[in-house]
Amino acid sequence: MSALVAVVPVRAGVVPAGGPEAIAEASGRAIVIGSGAAQATDDLTEAREVTVVDVNVSDPQIWGRLAAEVLTQLGSTDSVVVPASPDGRDLAPHLALALGVDLLSGATEVSPTRVRVARRGGLAIAEHRPSGRFVATLQPGVRGVDSSSTAATVSTVDVSAPASSPAVVSHDVLPPDVSTMDLAEAPRIVGGGAGLTDAERFTQLAEFARAIDASMGVTRVITDRGWAPHQRQIGTTGIVVDPTLYLAFGISGAVQHTSGLGQPDHIISVNTDAHCPMMQMADLAIVSDANAVLDELAALLSKDSAS
Ligand SMILES: Cc1cc2nc3c(=O)[nH]c(=O)nc-3n(C[C@H](O)[C@H](O)[C@H](O)COP(=O)(O)OP(=O)(O)OC[C@H]3O[C@@H](n4cnc5c(N)ncnc54)[C@H](O)[C@@H]3O)c2cc1C
Repeated sequence: MSALVAVVPVRAGVVPAGGPEAIAEASGRAIVIGSGAAQATDDLTEAREVTVVDVNVSDPQIWGRLAAEVLTQLGSTDSVVVPASPDGRDLAPHLALALGVDLLSGATEVSPTRVRVARRGGLAIAEHRPSGRFVATLQPGVRGVDSSSTAATVSTVDVSAPASSPAVVSHDVLPPDVSTMDLAEAPRIVGGGAGLTDAERFTQLAEFARAIDASMGVTRVITDRGWAPHQRQIGTTGIVVDPTLYLAFGISGAVQHTSGLGQPDHIISVNTDAHCPMMQMADLAIVSDANAVLDELAALLSKDSAS
């Protein structure tokens, strides 16, 4: 029976959010494709067997076609799991088209014979039992990774990439703006919940987040109150995130919130209740009024920028 292989697109050696999870879902087997692909393998501790396709191209359409060529060259009939990062979501349909197989997008779980996909904003899970080969995109943050695996076997495949795509000409790749970027991709998030007293606090929270190069996220209580838009809501009915750092201001840590949080390396929580779940999860738990802490941080930052 065929197995799974991950196809992970990289730009300038940077692995996208959800890349390591896609590789873990494929039991450590991966094709890493894009600019700086060889360098990117250094960060993939969950990989076991990696094929590197280092091409100086940043066009998902070409990545998709090249990945299909490489799979054919390797004689692989495996189904493919792609991280549902912005580049992964662009690449996957081109890869599925080139392979002539079905695309299953937004999966929470992928195996060669069963794919579960989130639908209706995460309120429903649909289960597919594919009878043949397929391409699936896996939502970042839904799975987590175990990074304790052994060194990977790395091989390189040379492909001749077209000089440019007929559809896309890439002039430059700019870093995203932290205040508007897709929250699912944000490496640092400052979260606000009902412990912050009013709508103005979320303007202040967004300014603080920007000052420390982080994105703002909120709980559902806050989006229900209309104090922040839905695309800032973290959780099962919001966005599934996977930051390395999460700072929570006045958030209780309800399961519908924390199940969308991924596996941050560091969690800092500010809350008046030392025993709530968010404080229990935190590496640094600060028992204090979150509004006062935010005022103090804003004052420190403005002092810093004035000097
Ligand atoms: C079907 C369903 C789906 C849901 N989906 C989501 C979802 O996607 N995302 C989500 O976030 N929620 C979701 N929820 C809601 C979730 O159950 C919680 O109600 C919500 O996450 C709680 O948000 P909160 O932590 O801001 O508020 P609360 O639970 O009210 O917590 C407020 C926290 O602030 C602390 N606090 C109070 N005053 C202060 C102060 N001055 N300083 C510091 N701390 C203070 C309190 O001790 C408390 O811990 C969903 C619920 C359901 C039923």
